[in-house]
Amino acid sequence: MSAPAPPLLERLARVVGPGRLLTADSDLAPFLTDHREIYHGRAFAVAQPDTAGQVAELLAVCNAHRIGVVPQGGNTGYCGGATPDDSGAQLVISLARLNRIRAVDALNDSLIGEAGCLLADVQRAAQAAQRFFPLSLGSEGSCQIGGNLSTNAGGVHVLRYGMMRDLVLGLEVALADGRLLSSLTRLRKDNTGYDIKSLFLGAEGTLGIITAASLKLFARIRATATAFAAVRDPGAAVELLARLREASGERVSSFELIPRIAVELTTRHIPGVRDPLDAAHAWYVLCELTSARAADPCDAMLTECLEPALEEGLVEDAVVVRNERERSALWKLRETIPEAQRRDGASLKHDISVPVAAIPAFIERAGQWVRDHVPEGRLVSYGHVGDGNLHFNINQASTTDRTAFLARGETVKRAIHDLVREFDGSISAEHGIGRLKVAELERYAPPVELELMRAVKHAFDPNGILNPGKVLREQR
Ligand SMILES: Cc1cc2nc3c(=O)[nH]c(=O)nc-3n(C[C@H](O)[C@H](O)[C@H](O)COP(=O)(O)OP(=O)(O)OC[C@H]3O[C@@H](n4cnc5c(N)ncnc54)[C@H](O)[C@@H]3O)c2cc1C
Repeated sequence: MSAPAPPLLERLARVVGPGRLLTADSDLAPFLTDHREIYHGRAFAVAQPDTAGQVAELLAVCNAHRIGVVPQGGNTGYCGGATPDDSGAQLVISLARLNRIRAVDALNDSLIGEAGCLLADVQRAAQAAQRFFPLSLGSEGSCQIGGNLSTNAGGVHVLRYGMMRDLVLGLEVALADGRLLSSLTRLRKDNTGYDIKSLFLGAEGTLGIITAASLKLFARIRATATAFAAVRDPGAAVELLARLREASGERVSSFELIPRIAVELTTRHIPGVRDPLDAAHAWYVLCELTSARAADPCDAMLTECLEPALEEGLVEDAVVVRNERERSALWKLRETIPEAQRRDGASLKHDISVPVAAIPAFIERAGQWVRDHVPEGRLVSYGHVGDGNLHFNINQASTTDRTAFLARGETVKRAIHDLVREFDGSISAEHGIGRLKVAELERYAPPVELELMRAVKHAFDPNGILNPGKVLREQR
């Protein structure tokens, strides 16, 4: 593929209207690099459609001329999925202008929003209707629901509400050949053949471009209790989670594991973040109970669980928040760990999951491997431990050369991912495959599963125009 001739550019420009096909280098620049600045691509243009029809029409033209397209949402993804390759022959389609909330149906507990709606705007729209949309990520002020759907995003409420896949009722999707699949159902029961929409969830723009979604809403949260507890070790964290669930049932909505180094990084790099406890401890959990009933004694349930754990030494110290300001401060600490890591230097990231009960053994084995083999790095292993999901990251020590450190990435990744396989885990818990993990998917996915994925890709996108080279390697 090469960059299209001027008449074709004019054709694409007519689809989106005046000023909405960007071609000047300075206009393109923000769309050509991923959030972590690992990938730098080129594109002949960025299209900014503002209707689903325009997205479909762009795809029809690109398909007819075999032009590769790269859908881009908020560009906060961690796997390079929204960055074009370096050929200069691809078109980036930015979904940012498809940002209308089309309908909120409080009685049906559902909302229809366009793909380019910011996640935070969807949360606000739900709140305005006295409802709750539970997906919550550190990037919620800039990621879009189209990106969340396409990466099947997770976040801090998966424990209670599931991942993005679990929050979807229906989708509207522009297909590779320019047809618009309109399946914005608001039904909770619909057993009419294959569940086609589920194929687009987590497909990272390789099977179609999502233009709108019908999402599930939930009862508004009226009682919340949040605690920051220093725990003896990761095993104590897993035990505490089991006890909290036993004591409060489905009220446990978040349970995050945080190592000491993350407290040090956030207090050093993020203004306003403070260490919540007086003394330093090796491990912490940030846990939250929530309920839709204002009278639910979440606070009491939390303290009744923490007190005996303190006496037994499972918990070494704890603070239960008294107001929203204190709660926000704790969440700020947790949500800014990735940013603090970024400011501290380069890091080797692994978004992995293992069965919850295996978390302590995994941290022990993998941590020892890092200490033995990566002495120039510092382990920052944190995450959504209630889902068995760890961000098993290694930051460069301040004395280490950045390039030399990053060059170790492949070897380190192989060792960590091999260990993940030993623990029956996943090499991508919530961030997807994108460009970053194409070879990893080939190495670790069951061969039959890969064959089926390729067959699905071919059925949906026979000319291979949709996000080429992402998730699956291009077949020649
Ligand atoms: C500070 C921070 C915290 C984060 N925390 C979490 C977390 O807790 N959990 C988690 O899961 N992720 C997290 N992320 C990662 C990221 O925010 C999510 O992956 C998010 O879902 C990406 O959304 P986006 O709109 O930025 O998508 P982009 O980065 O723009 O795109 C991601 C992929 O989806 C495709 N895509 C985008 N829009 C569409 C569309 N409309 N149709 C088809 N394909 C599309 C792109 O081509 C690309 O392959 C975090 C990121 C940051 C920076």
